[in-house]
Amino acid sequence: MAYDDNNIFARILRGEIPNKTIFEDEHVLAFHDAFPKAPVHALIIPKGKFTDINDFNANATDAEILALSRAIPKVVTELKLANDGFRTIANTGTHGGQEVPHFHIHIIGGKVVGPMVQE
Ligand code: AMP
Repeated sequence: MAYDDNNIFARILRGEIPNKTIFEDEHVLAFHDAFPKAPVHALIIPKGKFTDINDFNANATDAEILALSRAIPKVVTELKLANDGFRTIANTGTHGGQEVPHFHIHIIGGKVVGPMVQE
């Protein structure tokens, strides 16, 4: 899938749409989901143009991959989720229910999140 420069997260990265930033560095932006599915719902995205987790892990630089991995505990600590736990989700493609075609990791917590998938 070709990267769509007009997807909503690309526009957030260009500063065209506001976001509630939790953490940012050279390679990563983390912000609150605008339509939270739980009391705490954050998104962690690379700043590079990657459509999904497969594209990211195949094509990102080592520095970009490391930065995204390291951002997870920083965001989790900032959101005080470490003690009670949380769920990470990376929806991918049509079967995965991905709506925004820029790779992102959901961090969801603040309550017992429920079953992993619906039967
Ligand atoms: P996914 O279905 O995995 O692609 O998730 C996309 C997520 O982006 C959803 O949880 C949306 O609520 C969230 N979202 C959509 N627009 C915005 C926005 N402008 N700012 C923050 N989160 C958004």
